[in-house]
Amino acid sequence: MTTDVVVIGAGPAGAAAAITAARSGRSVTIVDRAGPDAPHLPETWEGARADLLADLGVTGLAELFLHRHRVHVSAPDGTRWATVEVSAGGQGVPPTARLDRTRFDAALADAAAAAGVVHLRGHTVDIVDPGAGGDPASGTSGGEPILSGSRADGSRWSLRGRFVVDASGKSATLGRALGLYRPGRQLDPRQAVFSHWEIEADRADTLAAAGTTSIVVLDGGYAFVIPLGGRRVSVGIVLGTDTASRAAAARHAKAAGRSGEPGAADSCGPAAVLAAVIADTPVLARLLAGARQLLPAIPAMNETFTCVPAASRWYALAGDAAGFDDPFLQRGVDTALASGLRAGGLSILATDPSASAQAAVLAYQDWLTADRAAASTHAYDAAARDWRSSVAGLLADPHLPSFVPLAGLMGLATTTGRGPASAGPATPDAGQLRELLAEARATYASW
Ligand SMILES: Cc1cc2nc3c(=O)[nH]c(=O)nc-3n(C[C@H](O)[C@H](O)[C@H](O)COP(=O)(O)OP(=O)(O)OC[C@H]3O[C@@H](n4cnc5c(N)ncnc54)[C@H](O)[C@@H]3O)c2cc1C
Repeated sequence: MTTDVVVIGAGPAGAAAAITAARSGRSVTIVDRAGPDAPHLPETWEGARADLLADLGVTGLAELFLHRHRVHVSAPDGTRWATVEVSAGGQGVPPTARLDRTRFDAALADAAAAAGVVHLRGHTVDIVDPGAGGDPASGTSGGEPILSGSRADGSRWSLRGRFVVDASGKSATLGRALGLYRPGRQLDPRQAVFSHWEIEADRADTLAAAGTTSIVVLDGGYAFVIPLGGRRVSVGIVLGTDTASRAAAARHAKAAGRSGEPGAADSCGPAAVLAAVIADTPVLARLLAGARQLLPAIPAMNETFTCVPAASRWYALAGDAAGFDDPFLQRGVDTALASGLRAGGLSILATDPSASAQAAVLAYQDWLTADRAAASTHAYDAAARDWRSSVAGLLADPHLPSFVPLAGLMGLATTTGRGPASAGPATPDAGQLRELLAEARATYASW
């Protein structure tokens, strides 16, 4: 099968690129490894551009934003310490919008379908062939690039295109395949791992009634519980590596003692750490009793990276696939949409035999570099040095509603020595926490 433009990934970057290219008459196919109805955690879209969405043909905007949002902060036994409630009010689009990303991505996919884009779901790209004689460094493709991969049932597929937009997020499929991937720094000395479960119906009802996100403060970090609709929840942990390994080792030793068997080689791997922390945290153990785990334990991406060059005459990298700085402090959704639009524009020029795409390739690379520099606030480093002023900065922004209390906890974890390096108090100072949450509430009230 041949198409003008192949887009890897149906997130905001891929959808924006595909819609832009399809509207200019190009044949466009999106391939995405996710199946239909893949859930996605809610996220914040800073400076939400409703006009942009409308231009892309997205309808039903009001449905895409969460207007009321609660975060509960509790102790491991479930004792509630604080609740912050964020209400953006009204039915319009708030200036910093809390997105229902599952619906958001679905609405973008609908708009892409309306523009004539073919969307192949459950198709994972694992081989990228730039074409005989192709050279990523010089941007020559040596003919039409070919993508191939597997379907959910294990069968193989391949697709030939004239231009490829890689919008595969942190997978950076094309960047890795072509050797463009440049790792940066480690994001956080702690270990972050999560999975999804289908929980018992009565517990799901209780969670839905209680609110959105729960943060459980642990010794050396925190756990989170995020309902994803229906009975599905995401549960994850962010813990100092030492604390995490100790928890896994202790649980493993206990299990080995019981069975008398040597333990699995990966007893300190992400799955073991997550299982150990859940078992040791009463509120999580209760929530997940009898639950069905739907995904393997997934370690969160913990390094920054850049892929260069981000464009050539036959490809463009858009969104996270071009580079990744920080999930909490970068403007990921915004950059994904903006770069997707530009990558789609580049694909139009590059597939027009009468046009020269060279200037557009360079302009795209310059724009991405400038955008990444602007988005990179280095707030992690600042938070490690001075958590109070950096949290105050976040509050003034007003940025990432549900992550403001989280940022507070991260700051507390750093400055009270609850991270891997030293032992500190087992719980954050409740007074400090309340103060932060009160500031957060006041900030949102003034929107
Ligand atoms: C914990 C966390 C919290 C975040 N919070 C925020 C926030 O509040 N606000 C914000 O603006 N940003 C946030 N971000 C960042 C934001 O999620 C990303 O920047 C944004 O989703 C990037 O969009 P994208 O289209 O580039 O990629 P994605 O949305 O990641 O989409 C990539 C798509 O590619 C598909 N794919 C991947 N590999 C392959 C493959 N090999 N073959 C086929 N398909 C593939 C995936 O299934 C996926 O659909 C957060 C990130 C994390 C991890």
